[in-house]
Amino acid sequence: MEVCALRPIDTQPAFMGGKPVREADRYLVFGRPAIGEEEIAEVVDTLRSGWIGTGPKVARFEAEFARYIGAEHAVAVSSCTAALHLAIQASGIGPGDEVITTPMTFCATLNAILHTGATPVLADCDPETGNLDPEQVAKRITKKTRAILPVHLAGRACDMEALRTIADEHGLALIEDCAHAIETKTEDGRHVGTHGQAGAFSFYVTKNLVTAEGGMLVTDDAEFAARVKVMALHGMSVDAWKRFGDDGYQHYDVVGAGFKFNMTDLQASLGLHQLAKIETGLVRREEIWRRYDEAFADLPLETPLPPEPGTRHARHLYTVLLERDRWMLSRDRFLTALHAEGIGSGVHYRAIPEHAFYRKQLHCRLGDFRVAEDIGRRTVSLPLSPALGDDDVEDVITAVRRIAAACSVVSG
Ligand SMILES: *Cc1c(COP(=O)(O)O)cnc(C)c1O
Repeated sequence: MEVCALRPIDTQPAFMGGKPVREADRYLVFGRPAIGEEEIAEVVDTLRSGWIGTGPKVARFEAEFARYIGAEHAVAVSSCTAALHLAIQASGIGPGDEVITTPMTFCATLNAILHTGATPVLADCDPETGNLDPEQVAKRITKKTRAILPVHLAGRACDMEALRTIADEHGLALIEDCAHAIETKTEDGRHVGTHGQAGAFSFYVTKNLVTAEGGMLVTDDAEFAARVKVMALHGMSVDAWKRFGDDGYQHYDVVGAGFKFNMTDLQASLGLHQLAKIETGLVRREEIWRRYDEAFADLPLETPLPPEPGTRHARHLYTVLLERDRWMLSRDRFLTALHAEGIGSGVHYRAIPEHAFYRKQLHCRLGDFRVAEDIGRRTVSLPLSPALGDDDVEDVITAVRRIAAACSVVSG
């Protein structure tokens, strides 16, 4: 083993005193959205229309999204978290019930389960993909289990065939967290989100389709969709758009303690154009992905596996894992070093049990989910967005290579 710390000062990483790849005024933010003139014009059109709340553009966005995904119904809501919450609740799941999910996810997945009163049960993930491991899921099933909630991490499809089989065997609902996975398809050519009772999508600012805040629930079950729609707007049986529309005033009945989870036409204005561009965005994401794969091949980084044969990866996150014992700096210092170069990055995710709140709530300890914890301590997400130009991509590569040159350990 040889340590490569001696380099001429002009190629020193910025955190060691070198000149940053990008100065502060050109800082490359992680997850920059690609907003075009079409989105801006549509928002202006909505503002001028006099109807900025939930209205005709939301209805159009729902129809177009359902068609894109290949689902019978889509209900637009305020966030993916809201869609998950509604999907779990509308499946009749609540206090005393258990929902099996992954420790390698965003806190919202867990919070949505907790808000319904149900108990999240973690099953460890696959070390190669970071996705829920069906074998681990099978081991966590009890008499109280009511649903499996897989997350298609980074845009990679979970093994839905295996999860479907387990769900069917035990009579469990399957609810998919598709926050990263709008373009993702399984090997049968179907979009994720259509494999079980419902799929939940996110249109948060960093996601592949952006409405500032927003989400969508898809389902093939008409009655389920209707129930979700009612609960997403105060539990009122007739939505506001219809109540105050051209047909004159209509009374509503409240059928349950619903939520305020509706999407507005302002958000749908963005969504309509973002959806129209989603496939060209994916082509660009794939291009950047290949460039990163190429540029990092000789570094002590585990780059993402290729998508499973026949599946389609949404390329939401390009994550690298720092190889064990090959770096002289911690993952967190690596993030700091990137920041010093003027490059934003992310961590997706520290495993759920790293948070004291969930350890207490779920009665688990560090060490219980070793695969997720290990990934969570070594993972770094690099900027990946159709809004990145080639020069931005090269800057990310230069920054990573410069840090590796100064701070990695070459074996052999
Ligand atoms: C972003 C995200 C969510 C939450 O989405 P919101 O639209 O912000 O509520 C849920 N799950 C995962 C895996 C996410 O990345």
